[in-house]
Amino acid sequence: MTRVGVLGACGRMGRLVCEAVLGDADLVLAAAIDPVRAGEPLAAVIGQPQAEVQVSPQLDTLLQAETEIAVDFTRPDAVMDNIRFGVTHGIHMVVGTTGIGPAEHEQVRGWVEEQGGEANVIIAPNFSVGAVLSQRLAEEAARFFPAAEVIELHHEGKLDAPSGTAAATARRIAAARGEPWSGPDAESIEGVRGGAVEGVRVHSVRLPGLVAHQEIVFGGPGQTLSIRHDSSDRSSFIPGVLLALKQVERRPGVTIGLEPLLGLT
Ligand code: NAP
Repeated sequence: MTRVGVLGACGRMGRLVCEAVLGDADLVLAAAIDPVRAGEPLAAVIGQPQAEVQVSPQLDTLLQAETEIAVDFTRPDAVMDNIRFGVTHGIHMVVGTTGIGPAEHEQVRGWVEEQGGEANVIIAPNFSVGAVLSQRLAEEAARFFPAAEVIELHHEGKLDAPSGTAAATARRIAAARGEPWSGPDAESIEGVRGGAVEGVRVHSVRLPGLVAHQEIVFGGPGQTLSIRHDSSDRSSFIPGVLLALKQVERRPGVTIGLEPLLGLT
């Protein structure tokens, strides 16, 4: 049985991850870290009586609980400190928090190497299999349709924009297409044409009622192609998180994205 700690345990994703760990015969929920509701029994927070731990605000609780793998669904401004703590103490990390990019991934690689590769890290900006497939399809389409824009739509509580998935999708489109295309620049209202990630326009919509959605629209002479993915419920991320928990111990170093775990690369 592998001992798992959840960082951000009282958040929207963290609560679901705690439930999933509790429901998995190979995993034990050893620690729940969150400044919110610190000191309360996790059972009361997530409504699962079988949860035996108390919510703690302290990362040190991971050590006291002999955590082997920590899952992070916290905030962009907290996640790097959490990863560093885990790696430094030989705890494998599964990271879902978004808002970190290639520069931060490099930093994590450096920490893992400094520690002699004792801890492995999987960072996935999107744990939903459908979203991962849509990015891969977009990469294929970009070879034939260099003109493309990404529209991502999320709930109003999302702290980062663009989404990690949109930024990763744009980078993959930019790398796959033969020639650059960002379309016309003219704007009578600032920002109305969106932002650009490596020359690919990205538009971020934030509204109540949304969960996580993305549409990539490709244009060519006389035709368009749209690739759309909708997560209508956060449960869509859980199978990917469990897959990462089952694989992180045997994936040395830093793994970015779900594709290698799904056998897609
Ligand atoms: P959320 O509901 O705001 O939950 C985050 C929780 O983490 C909050 O309770 C927060 O407390 C807590 N927290 C903040 N700093 C912490 C720290 N240093 N240690 C432990 N806990 C800390 O957010 P969410 O919707 O669950 O999303 C969390 C992150 O996951 C976001 O970055 C989101 O974009 C990402 N996400 C990724 C995927 C994926 O597939 N990779 C899917 C969904 C969401 P406070 O409220 O006090 O800050």
